[in-house]
Amino acid sequence: MTMFDLTLAAARDELRARRLSARELTQSYLDAIAALNPRLNAYITVTPERALAQADAADAALARGQAGPLTGIPLAIKDLFCTAGVRTTAGSRILEQFVPPYESTVSANLLRDGAVFLGKANLDEFAMGSSNMTSAYGAVENPWKRRQDTSAVLVPGGSSGGSASAVAARLALGATATDTGGSIRQPASFCGIPGIKPTYGRCSRWGIVAFASSLDQAGPLARTVEDCAILLGSMAGHDPKDSTSADRPVPDFAAACKRGVKGLRIGVPREYTMDGMPEEISVLWQQGLAWMRDAGAEIVDVSLPHTKYGLATYYIVAPAEASSNLARYDGVRFGLRENGEDLRDLYERTRAAGFGPEVRRRILIGTYVLSAGYYDAYYVRAQKVRALILRDFTEVFSKVDALLTPTAPSAAFAQGENMDDPIKMYLNDIFTVPASMAGVPGMSVPAGLDANGLPLGLQVLGKPFDEETVFAVSAAIERAAGFSALPSIRAGA
Ligand code: GLN
Repeated sequence: MTMFDLTLAAARDELRARRLSARELTQSYLDAIAALNPRLNAYITVTPERALAQADAADAALARGQAGPLTGIPLAIKDLFCTAGVRTTAGSRILEQFVPPYESTVSANLLRDGAVFLGKANLDEFAMGSSNMTSAYGAVENPWKRRQDTSAVLVPGGSSGGSASAVAARLALGATATDTGGSIRQPASFCGIPGIKPTYGRCSRWGIVAFASSLDQAGPLARTVEDCAILLGSMAGHDPKDSTSADRPVPDFAAACKRGVKGLRIGVPREYTMDGMPEEISVLWQQGLAWMRDAGAEIVDVSLPHTKYGLATYYIVAPAEASSNLARYDGVRFGLRENGEDLRDLYERTRAAGFGPEVRRRILIGTYVLSAGYYDAYYVRAQKVRALILRDFTEVFSKVDALLTPTAPSAAFAQGENMDDPIKMYLNDIFTVPASMAGVPGMSVPAGLDANGLPLGLQVLGKPFDEETVFAVSAAIERAAGFSALPSIRAGA
């Protein structure tokens, strides 16, 4: 048993009992980052001095008996959250030198509660991707390896690939992440850890670099379902600075993890299956349903008929909003500037130099679907279908308390795979996108290993603002699965 075996909840108890100091804990994580980050590339920026200063402040608070919910807990912050005085790149060249003068609300909430920030986690450029291969700061390695082919370097999923890899490799006790169409849940599944995208509006988006504003939502990745609940409790809450943040009390999510599932009705949407999906994923899904039945839940077959349009409408709405949000990177106000002969030339040179190919593709798609003549045919139609997707969920949730599905149609793939055709990469999001379009909460929980020894996740979806039931079901899956495997990089650490 080492310090790295402690969950966030256990580390918190050790710190409060003063059997462990925040400095010791933070230093151990910084040492692990120094040893493993050169290989994994999970962090773009590491802030050791800041982390140790925060740890010392945490130890002083603990000595005074004034511990907050996260005092002394070392976390990774996705490099999409603005951090005052610490460079925030969004994984893009265009923000390579951007040091925000302000703190995002979510990260400020974590600091308020005593957390220690180890650094900024790598991600797909502007959170666009499912493999972390689009980051301008290099790919992230998944700490897991295939049993047979140990030379293959696997992707951690995306876009929160750095956050997921850092937590799985034990380079942080937890991490912030964001999910626009699956970017918390898919990397969680690929890296064998839990992660939750809460209801749209549960966390403030203020100070998070915007991708698609009607879909973006922050959430945690951590080592256990309870740890995610503790983190979300700090991250969430109403913020007058984000008009879409919900003015609702933040429930005790950690308490909900202990509720159990007895008497709950859990729906199985028949549309959540895909041609070519490995048999093991269907088997695991059936296993998950059997665990829930054994724990006293009733399993109900349901239908979400508009699921099949989820991906197509997402890849209209998300690029449309992205093309509008990314218009601000013009070389004038902040970030990179490439001088030109006149203003237009400056814009063009700056944007050509600053944006990578995936971001350019999204801007082109988005600009096209919003252009005069195509707006009604694409964007307006996609919004109408989005309303139908939401209606499916609303109807189903009048009959069941939660839904259980696979998180992703495959286990982690190797770097370079799925790169030849953007559509193949987009298919990763097939099971996560509908909940994003509907704004409902979704959590991925590690539930088993495939024949290659790679983790597979199950997804729990819930009613809007009923994350408590999502946590109750996810914790029940976690207990039943007893998932204790570790990536080889950490086995025995
Ligand atoms: N993979 C999806 C995309 O590339 C989702 C990304 C996200 O949730 N940020 O758009």
